[in-house]
Amino acid sequence: MKDNNAPFTAVISESGAQYMTSPNIPVTHGFTTRLGGVSGGIYSSLNLREHCGDSRENIAENYRRIASALGVSTLCFTRQVHKNTVRTVTAKDAHTLFEPVPYEADGLITEDPNCALVIFTADCIPILLWDREKNAVGALHAGWRGTAADIAGVGISRMIEEFGSEPKNIFAAIGPGIGQCCFETGCDVPEAMAKTLPNAMDFVKPGKVSGKFMVDLKGINRALLIRAGVPAENISVSDECTMCLHDKYWSHRFTGGERGSQASIIAAKGLA
Ligand SMILES: [Zn+2]
Repeated sequence: MKDNNAPFTAVISESGAQYMTSPNIPVTHGFTTRLGGVSGGIYSSLNLREHCGDSRENIAENYRRIASALGVSTLCFTRQVHKNTVRTVTAKDAHTLFEPVPYEADGLITEDPNCALVIFTADCIPILLWDREKNAVGALHAGWRGTAADIAGVGISRMIEEFGSEPKNIFAAIGPGIGQCCFETGCDVPEAMAKTLPNAMDFVKPGKVSGKFMVDLKGINRALLIRAGVPAENISVSDECTMCLHDKYWSHRFTGGERGSQASIIAAKGLA
């Protein structure tokens, strides 16, 4: 059994793309960073966000670098809308760069090993899932709204329905995202969390200013995964905060939204 509390590992690939891997997910996956791409300015440098001011040539080259680093060719994307829909995809849903995605969802699941799932974040919490028995995978985008809508629990339920997964066989990696150190909110966020998770206030501290709160989104998502039946020992959590580490990751808050995006990518292949 691997140590799920081990730190995530930084990988500098031959193509240049730099990404992080989780200690408990043995299939092909990566949480990309800003580093090792070709984009400039506010998109410097491994920008994977298609519809922004970055040039198509640069974005395409960044994709070539990360796809080559991970050994994947068929990517499935989704149009993220901060809700909790989790969609099953196959290689038929493969995405051609710069084509619009014909559906909205904040999570993707598949048991097609030829299909690499991609979700985007820049402070929101990325969650990658792997079922070791069914060799199925999932990728979830959990911003605060998705977290409050329990996308983590919905992702596990959908794997049970679609693949016959048992939660005890699912491993989860909660990747780099905004930490409690930086995620200051009004009372709307803790209130929304408490509706979903009765002990949500265990993950909320008072902010520096009256009426403000510091919310631990990674901790809440971990608790939601555990409530869905995933054993605590199967869950790893990145200790990296995208806002603290704004030279390494895009942070929506730090940049005021003038930014690229990192991607979290997983495919049900590559088992040694
Ligand atoms: Zn921070």
